Amino acid sequence: MNIILLGPPGAGKGTQARHLVETRNMVQLSTGDMLREAKDSGTEMGKTVADVMARGDLVTDEIVIGLIREKLEVASEHDGFIFDGFPRTLAQATALAELLTAIGKPLDYVIELRVNDDALVNRISGRSTCGKCGEVYHDETKPQPTDGKCVKCGASDFKRRADDNEESLRNRLMEYYKKTSPLLGYYYAHDMLKGVDGLADIDDVQASIAEILDS
Ligand code: AMP
Repeated sequence: MNIILLGPPGAGKGTQARHLVETRNMVQLSTGDMLREAKDSGTEMGKTVADVMARGDLVTDEIVIGLIREKLEVASEHDGFIFDGFPRTLAQATALAELLTAIGKPLDYVIELRVNDDALVNRISGRSTCGKCGEVYHDETKPQPTDGKCVKCGASDFKRRADDNEESLRNRLMEYYKKTSPLLGYYYAHDMLKGVDGLADIDDVQASIAEILDS
């Protein structure tokens, strides 16, 4: 089963992808994570994308398609791919279709996590994650434990994303509506689009996604 999780920043794509990785033999392919890794390890490509990411603009199609192409070559032993934050443009969507056709693993579903903008600003402005296992925390709804240790893995290395600030978020949302939301029509026309209420409790969102995957 190969799926795309589609939705604006803060919709919960990463959280849902991690749950699917834990419960099914699927692999999460997050271009945001790949780009942050490149940035943190100081590669030439990482240096090129740092400013673009800080502003909340989109990195070039060429770079992200290249990253996905590399990962698909090494991730084929898994039972399915979860594309998280990719594709974000029509050019990326058509490139992905070609790459998947070439390896005989076509896309099954595109799951849209539906949320409204007010909820996104709130979710993102209080967000932090465990640097080791990626568990997500929120200042109001799920504060970091008072003993300073991640509830999931016990590490004490919490991170806030540099682009989780209001100005960058506004730009990321604009990019989403301008360049990514046309993908909803594209996948609807390909009869792959499924919608899920991204504002429901995490468990309910998980259940809705499971229902789609098991249907
Ligand atoms: P994310 O972690 O998915 O929110 O991505 C963080 C940032 O990485 C985005 O704001 C973009 O600057 C860049 N990025 C991630 N995925 C893509 C993509 N598929 N296309 C272009 N830029 C991307």
